[in-house]
Amino acid sequence: MFPSSEYDVIVVGAGHAGCEAAAAAARLGSRVLLATMNLNTIAQMSCNPAMGGVAKGQIVREIDALGGQSGIITDQTMIQFRMLNRSKGPAMWSPRAQSDRMRFAEAWRLALESIPNVDFWQESVTGLLVENGAVAGIVTQLGIEFRAPAVVLTNGTFLNGLIHIGEKNFGGGRAAEKGSRGLTEQLVALGFEAGRMKTGTPPRVDGRSLDYSKMEVQAGDAVPGKFSYLDTAPLAQQRPCYITYTNERVHNILREGFEKSPMFQGRIKGLGPRYCPSVEDKINRFADKDRHQIFVEPEGWSTVECYVNGFSSSLPEDVQYRALREIAGFENAKMFRPGYAIEYDYFPPTQLRATLETKQVAGLYFAGQINGTTGYEEAACQGLMAGINAHNKVQGREPFVLSRSEAYIGVLIDDLVNKGTDEPYRMFTSRAEHRLLLRQDNADLRLTPLGHALGLASDERLARVQRKQAQAAEATELLKDFAIEAPAINPLLGALGSAEIHERTRAVNLLRRPNLELADLAGALPALADALAGFDAEALEQAVIGIKYESYLVKEQQQAARMLELENFVIQGRLDYKAMPALSHEAREKLLKIQPETLGQASRISGISPADVSVLMVYLNR
Ligand code: FAD
Repeated sequence: MFPSSEYDVIVVGAGHAGCEAAAAAARLGSRVLLATMNLNTIAQMSCNPAMGGVAKGQIVREIDALGGQSGIITDQTMIQFRMLNRSKGPAMWSPRAQSDRMRFAEAWRLALESIPNVDFWQESVTGLLVENGAVAGIVTQLGIEFRAPAVVLTNGTFLNGLIHIGEKNFGGGRAAEKGSRGLTEQLVALGFEAGRMKTGTPPRVDGRSLDYSKMEVQAGDAVPGKFSYLDTAPLAQQRPCYITYTNERVHNILREGFEKSPMFQGRIKGLGPRYCPSVEDKINRFADKDRHQIFVEPEGWSTVECYVNGFSSSLPEDVQYRALREIAGFENAKMFRPGYAIEYDYFPPTQLRATLETKQVAGLYFAGQINGTTGYEEAACQGLMAGINAHNKVQGREPFVLSRSEAYIGVLIDDLVNKGTDEPYRMFTSRAEHRLLLRQDNADLRLTPLGHALGLASDERLARVQRKQAQAAEATELLKDFAIEAPAINPLLGALGSAEIHERTRAVNLLRRPNLELADLAGALPALADALAGFDAEALEQAVIGIKYESYLVKEQQQAARMLELENFVIQGRLDYKAMPALSHEAREKLLKIQPETLGQASRISGISPADVSVLMVYLNR
């Protein structure tokens, strides 16, 4: 009846974290069981149909560079692509795709089904097998036991999920899906600390009932980019999104519902995502604003359903409906599904090692929303890292940890395991101290060699990176050597309002000017255009970024190297922090609780001062 009952790695949950975890562990060679409540909701986008965005887009590029699947699947199924923040520096450029919700889920399922050593089991997992402090497998609702020395839990918003719409509430993990019971209680009995968070989603409407002539069009990029560094096809056709606004009439109707709001009446206890507030929260907190932006996002090519981004709500459904119809373009809107809020259990992530293995139970890994994060991208990258580490542990290989200067993924996991979070954690560029190093354009250069060494990134990926690297170096040399005479370039400089030159100069010197791009120079200098003709666009982009930001890049690399020195101070075993009187009282308490694995990790725990780090360094040097 069953595929097998013995596996190397069992992944519980097939959301964004679970899918990446299962794919990674299996592609590395583990025999994987993906156990999930409902095989029809694999890789379901619970909230908006979009991947990427500021800092999140960088994460998807990193997942792809390591050999994960999210970038490829986004490319295969997106309906619109935009590179956000193009007008800012390259550290801020962030790819974002509008996805086709149904095709995204289908493509993920096909991708998983194409990996021979992934088995599937549809059922709710209600317990873990734990033997001598180590995980040994899972138990399902039917009482079936599946055994494995590594289990990755990726339960998302399902653990004791409670859905709220106005004064009504009911158990559920997501609209129309059951919640998960039993696991939290067992984990707490095993000594884990659990907490409660909340998130929310807007109503969905019938696109046929909207009047788009009253809205602004938000088109995709004229030349759409993509997420994967592999040869995925660029978008041939795009669907636009639309922008409209709330108004005072909308706000007044929403205010009528405040007395039935589960949030304002205190029925919701968990903390929600600060940067993704509900519409009622926005009009309450920013009472002086007379309108808020609404993005109307189509859910795909083959559906009329639209996502009303910016209108997340847990007010009663009739209030949501009446308020919606006061928005310009929504006068005749038909609602498909009301918005709702959901409360769920999470586990403070300071209970994890940097590999995402729990400190309490060996071989047990947590990834995704269960760790207090929010967002598909944040979940997917944790899944990838947990899948890799679960495989490595079972095979007796070294743990795989990324540093803060190597990847946003490193920043995210380091923040989680050291600082923890008491509100849903989402990634921002400001969380990274080396964001000029962690750009979306160079994730392949940073991470593909690591992914290849793991066995996850293909030879083809590595070959592409090597070609890009070699071409970028060659182009940099060419631009350093290429001489430009004043008469040949001054007309262009004059036209761009850039100071004219009086002597011959090299191309690099002009490229360092902020308002001068390589395309401008090549347009004015046919010999330069000829010399660059054989180079790939991506390699030229690398060369130009390296030239324009050289001094900043060098500074960040030096800072990163200093940080790495602390990272290399490994703290072996459990130290007796109580016996170090020179540490502050707070430092002793936090170090005892978190048990950092390196001095670098210790230095980033909130409440640990530079003086405490010096004390530890002296102690470790002894
Ligand atoms: P999920 O995608 O939730 O997947 C969990 C998986 O585990 C599911 O497949 C489920 O069936 C399975 N599962 C759970 N328990 C069990 C069990 N016991 N046995 C077997 N299978 C199990 N993110 C944002 O960035 N912005 C937002 O505005 C936003 N709003 C959201 C609104 C709502 C209502 C919800 C539900 C989520 C929202 N999210 C939002 C969060 C986003 O959906 C999640 O961060 C992301 O999906 C988390 O991925 P995950 O893999 O951790 O979990």
